[in-house]
Amino acid sequence: MVRGKFITFEGIDGAGKTTHLNWFRERLEARIAASGRSVVVTREPGGTALGETLRGILLNQPMDLETEALLMFAARREHLAQVIEPALARGDWVLSDRFSDATFAYQGGGRGLPRDKLEALERWVQGGFQPDLTVLFDVPIATASERRGAARSPDKFESESEAFFARTRNEYLRRAEESPERFVIVDATRSIADIQDVLEDVISTV
Ligand code: ADP
Repeated sequence: MVRGKFITFEGIDGAGKTTHLNWFRERLEARIAASGRSVVVTREPGGTALGETLRGILLNQPMDLETEALLMFAARREHLAQVIEPALARGDWVLSDRFSDATFAYQGGGRGLPRDKLEALERWVQGGFQPDLTVLFDVPIATASERRGAARSPDKFESESEAFFARTRNEYLRRAEESPERFVIVDATRSIADIQDVLEDVISTV
């Protein structure tokens, strides 16, 4: 059995990841249905029973920055072991709302944890494993903030300052620049229909 592919959606809160997730899943399913493969949709932090418990803690409780980074990677280790690696091994595709780029962006860029510590954790938890494709939904901070404000009450991260989100966005863009073969940057200020056109092209090439 040929291994499946691992696709991640990334971007600051309010960029539009969740809006496109189910649509993208349906298009991917249509693309690979003939081969008998499925698409597993999951998210971080979360994706397992333990991971979802950690998500509740991470999104709502204040904690030391290093604790936060360690818990993110602990949840990720469980996610890889229980969900992502088995799915890819049986040939299914995995679509995850966030993965380790988010930890670099939020705990590294946003909160300022030194990158070498995150790189050490990434090596420990993932070895060299990275997504086959990462779709980065990129929007200016003000647009994301307006969209969040209209949509929901904020969790711990969503309550952060504009400066925090500016640093987070910059780190996402730096990660994308570092691995251009893996990233597609989507201008998420465009209409949902326009973004779907872009994503349709992405699906046809993945
Ligand atoms: P994320 O998952 O990245 O935090 P969401 O998908 O929850 O973002 O989107 C946040 C809000 O912005 C939602 O109310 C959604 O309907 C709206 N939204 C998402 N994408 C667009 C878009 N391209 N144009 C206008 N509004 C959008």
